[in-house]
Amino acid sequence: MRAIVVKPPKPGVEINDVKIDEDKLSTIGLVKIKVLENGICGTDREIVSGKRTSVKPPAGKDELILGHEAIGIVEVGGYGLKEGELVMPINKRGCGKCLNCLVGRPDFCETGEGLVAGTKGLDGFMREYLYDDPKYLVKIPLAIKDIAILAQPLADIEKSVEAILTTQKRVPIWTCDDGTFNCKKALVVGTGPTGILFSLILRTYGFQVWIANRRELLDNEKEILEEPGIIFYNSENGYDNLVKSEGKFDLIIDTSGASASIMQHLVPLLQINGVLGLFGFPRYDNFSLDYKTVQDFVINNRIIIGLDNGQKPHFQQAVIHLASWKSLWPKTTSKMITKVISISNEREVISSLREKLPGEIKVIIRWE
Ligand code: NAP
Ligand code: ZN
Ligand code: ZN
Repeated sequence: MRAIVVKPPKPGVEINDVKIDEDKLSTIGLVKIKVLENGICGTDREIVSGKRTSVKPPAGKDELILGHEAIGIVEVGGYGLKEGELVMPINKRGCGKCLNCLVGRPDFCETGEGLVAGTKGLDGFMREYLYDDPKYLVKIPLAIKDIAILAQPLADIEKSVEAILTTQKRVPIWTCDDGTFNCKKALVVGTGPTGILFSLILRTYGFQVWIANRRELLDNEKEILEEPGIIFYNSENGYDNLVKSEGKFDLIIDTSGASASIMQHLVPLLQINGVLGLFGFPRYDNFSLDYKTVQDFVINNRIIIGLDNGQKPHFQQAVIHLASWKSLWPKTTSKMITKVISISNEREVISSLREKLPGEIKVIIRWE
């Protein structure tokens, strides 16, 4: 079958024939899925560029099938899944040793040896067929087929919001006087796909949401933020000016994945009992805080929390949110998939795996 493959740590990507010997594969307990489409994300591009050091092919191989976002159709069902049903595979599979992995929560793996499809020790989903354990498959309703690929990146964000809200149970009352989050202010830094998805989720939970970038928005980005009422701030104008006009933030999420030093600008913006969530992976630089800011942090019960990766419950929650957004914010959801490329258009597939174009939210590769 055809598959999109990389040979880490070498940069580059190819569409090749790879061998799956169906007769030798023990398909007992596995469902056969025909892949319909894959989403491309920044991680794929980092692997293709040769910059991701943690990428690893399956044991004994020098080649890795790329991809961790996929929608497929069940071709040979069983085990609770019927032929013709749409499914999304889960990418993080765990180490098989620690208790968190054994109960389906490899996002909290304690050995660091967990397998991740398309990234670490396990072939990914950019291929014509998959054989998979139903335990790792999430059912997708037909009604959201057009945007369902977003359920994978969204699952990570669902998990993040769950982690934040669970952590905030430390505060006797962290809601407003009507029991909602409507008076709470959140700032999301970065307007990439994850920044936008984070903002949408926080609006769904009722937060007032500001989203920041250090440039003006493109037209399609503006249109996406309009219906849900997400307010844009250009951080070139200084975060201190944002605080002067809007006050401090109960929740700040960094999704910029840029400089680590961005944290020292964000920490002083936090409200009492506030949370700074780190979701992006900073690529360079350091950050430092003076003693006064640290003291303030202690006195005001502020926290910094690392947020990583969603699992099956979060994929299922993501599906519910995508379905609700289609009716709540139809214009927004109609603009989230910015490009669909056919696998037969090899040149464009490869160039999209190499480079993110301005205004891109989600690019899909469609297997014909
Ligand atoms: P992305 O498309 O690169 O988005 C990053 C956004 O941040 C872009 O809009 C970028 O602007 C903006 N930005 C860059 N520097 C900034 C700055 N100094 N201030 C404000 N905004 C800035 O990436 P993504 O796919 O949304 O992912 C975001 C990050 O999350 C990445 O680091 C990724 O590796 C990480 N991630 C984490 C998890 C997890 O589970 N924790 C899961 C997936 C991804 P431009 O558009 O102008 O470049
Ligand atoms: Zn991804
Ligand atoms: Zn583990």
